[in-house]
Amino acid sequence: MPHLYGEKEDAAMIWVCLVCGDEIESDEVPEVCPVCGADSSQFEAKQD
Ligand SMILES: [Zn+2]
Repeated sequence: MPHLYGEKEDAAMIWVCLVCGDEIESDEVPEVCPVCGADSSQFEAKQD
């Protein structure tokens, strides 16, 4: 299995924090925003 976490080239999705606007590349929704601390309900998936 490929280890996608932390490897931008294979990240499946971009998640945008609706609170602070931070963008996180991950194959799953982040549990918490590392910038503002918002929980996963505050993330919206963004397609390239
Ligand atoms: Zn945030």
